[in-house]
Amino acid sequence: MISKDDINMFEEIFWHELESWFSSEIACCDECYDDFLSIWPHAYSADNATFQKSSIDLDSFYSGSYLRDTFTKEQFDELIRHILCPRCGASLQANIWPYNFPFTVPDDIERSIQELGKIAKSTPFLLLNHPFAKETFEMLTNISKTIQPTQLKEYLYRARLVGADVKESPTCFQPPPKDRTTEGRYNHAGNPVLYLASDLETCHSEMRMKTCIIAEIQIIKPLTILDLVDSEKSHEDFYNALSSLCYSALTSAKQSSEGWHKPEYVFSRFVADCCRQAKIQAIQYPSTRMTKQSFNLVIIDENFSFLKDACIKSYINKSEVTRK
Ligand SMILES: [Zn+2]
Repeated sequence: MISKDDINMFEEIFWHELESWFSSEIACCDECYDDFLSIWPHAYSADNATFQKSSIDLDSFYSGSYLRDTFTKEQFDELIRHILCPRCGASLQANIWPYNFPFTVPDDIERSIQELGKIAKSTPFLLLNHPFAKETFEMLTNISKTIQPTQLKEYLYRARLVGADVKESPTCFQPPPKDRTTEGRYNHAGNPVLYLASDLETCHSEMRMKTCIIAEIQIIKPLTILDLVDSEKSHEDFYNALSSLCYSALTSAKQSSEGWHKPEYVFSRFVADCCRQAKIQAIQYPSTRMTKQSFNLVIIDENFSFLKDACIKSYINKSEVTRK
């Protein structure tokens, strides 16, 4: 028979052990894992997949902790039902993810993310009515005053699928013409921008590993860049807010729907509009297709000329890679 004192002692040891093992709170449990990642998709792969590595099953936690000295496995299985997930309030089942974000998560942001997700699906033009969108607009305007133009030293990469009209020629690697520009993460339909990747592998992966020609590109013109990948270094004063944008579905949602309706891109397109208005010329953001520290760069400046402001160093042919 389990007494109230047993439950209290169990809870005390459980939380103490968790703290001493992980120094982290429980980010999610089996019940709310999908919900957590739908709100924070970039947490899955960020920082060398720290979140994925944080997963632990409760049986292993029991056998490696002091709980084992005090309670039998049968008692543990019964008492663990009294520990509730801090995120969703459900009883813990099989696994927990003790994980802290590497930044301070602003209060109430999850509610804003969910509200903005609904607006994006039904009435995207009303986005700016939401207080969080207004704050984002103001923040990006303020950040723009602190950014100096940067001369990019690293080569960047841009791919074209192999086809009849694709040649190893700079004109083939410009942004597409307006009548062939579909909606993207940081551009409206009919509004061409230049998407580039930090490395060959990311570039090929963004093309879903199909056969393509990849151009190795040097950007000659210095650019003002909003850096969502390393905002701690680039925009220290805005680190928490920018990291929240970067880790959340606001800018890092995977594009799942087909066709014209792409609500996952509404907020990131809004961010691009704010940047363009504030004379920020490019946005550096993490790739949603790779797990290491790779990134993409999108040049949103309408006055950027690919033929004058960039030059191609080489072309690399990549054949299709099929994943089993
Ligand atoms: Zn939970």
